[in-house]
Amino acid sequence: MNVLARGTNHPGNLALLPFSNLQKLREERPLMFVRGQGIYTFDEQGKDYIEAVSTFYCVNLGFSDEELIEAAVQQLRALPMYPSGIHRTVPVVMELAERLAAVAPVRGGHVMFATTGSEANDQLVKFTWYANRVAGEPKRRKIISRRASYHGGTIATTALGGSAALQEAFGIPTGDSLFVSHPTWPIGALPDETETAYTDRLVEELRQTIEEAGPETVAAFIAEPVSVSSGMFPPPEGYFAKIKALLDGYGIRLYADEVVTGFGRTGKMWGSETLGIEPDCISCAKGLSGAYQPISAVVMSDDFYSRLEEGANAAGIFNHGGTYGGHPVSAAVAIKVLDIYERRNILGHVQSVMPVWQKALASLEDHPLVTATRCFGMAGAVQIAPPGEGKPAAASPSLAPGGLSQQLYMAGLAAGVVVRPLQGCVVLSPPLIITEAEIGELTRRLRLALDATLAALP
Ligand code: PLP
Repeated sequence: MNVLARGTNHPGNLALLPFSNLQKLREERPLMFVRGQGIYTFDEQGKDYIEAVSTFYCVNLGFSDEELIEAAVQQLRALPMYPSGIHRTVPVVMELAERLAAVAPVRGGHVMFATTGSEANDQLVKFTWYANRVAGEPKRRKIISRRASYHGGTIATTALGGSAALQEAFGIPTGDSLFVSHPTWPIGALPDETETAYTDRLVEELRQTIEEAGPETVAAFIAEPVSVSSGMFPPPEGYFAKIKALLDGYGIRLYADEVVTGFGRTGKMWGSETLGIEPDCISCAKGLSGAYQPISAVVMSDDFYSRLEEGANAAGIFNHGGTYGGHPVSAAVAIKVLDIYERRNILGHVQSVMPVWQKALASLEDHPLVTATRCFGMAGAVQIAPPGEGKPAAASPSLAPGGLSQQLYMAGLAAGVVVRPLQGCVVLSPPLIITEAEIGELTRRLRLALDATLAALP
């Protein structure tokens, strides 16, 4: 059969679309988007949608930024591709490394680029093992993460992520992974437990996990400063300071996954900055290029980097890399992103709309389906349950969509607002350029979706 002759009626399953129901893909054409403008995307029929999660938490500067497009076009014309490696690179890669190191929340930062957030975190695991072998501690391999966290889809990062179901489904080796609870203050607290006592309980769980594993086998603890994709639970008071003190006592490194929280999502440039975290290494991606081009990076402390240098000097080269790591077009766009943050004062804008955003989300609490709203920076979650069921226990977050939140997601599409459904809630992280008026329109559409979901309940 001539593939080109199939036209637009062919089944949608010719492309295996990520995170999709494959039966539905066989039966239905996926929703196709053809254009974007500001915080809006448009489907084939011309219907507009507010991208309330910046698609996959990434299009922070909206969809039609002419400066970003122009930066890509200029680099495409000058030199569309040149890999970095074997003592060759392009000026934009060097410039981006310098500028990223200057703003990153890591002391004496050294940068290595990759393409996706998964790849950056994967690289971080690989570098950790390398650094500890160089340091004469080959057994120090284990990395601790929080349950229901997401750090990527490669084999190593699926092992890092806190979804046992995913690890089980794909048969992922998890021998070097350790897991602790994800903070879900206040709903995960015991009756009458204070916030401090709750924090201390989680820190004690971490201590026990390290002791049981053998401290000399534990290399690092990785966490998002605040995890939007795990249901948006900001850490309880004192959480990271106490964890850092504990880790320092054991010589265990702290890594911040800033793939989502980087570039202003939490109100400052980095989630680590907002929460006062001093990580040894960070990973970033998505917002680094406003998601216009794929690029990610690991930023390492001087101390960490010196181990890589030591190993590489002994071997002659640092034997790791990839064709597209630090792609020139992506690097050119990322430099323009950093320019735009400064020149247009994106963080100032975020600070000014944050209170409006927080108030808008809280205004949904009067809806019969809404049991709570949570907000942090320019992100948030709307917790839902059928009326009469009261507050769900949801003591541990989940990455899987639940029935009701899936219905709300579908109603959102009909109302022209795209949200991300999780178990018991939907999460939101709109483009950072969103205006006060657009926040009003987003909330109006979300309320329409809540009404439609409520009306459809049996
Ligand atoms: N880390 C976090 C916190 C993420 O949310 C994601 C993706 O959503 C990743 C890493 C992986 O990034 P990517 O999808 O670019 O591989």
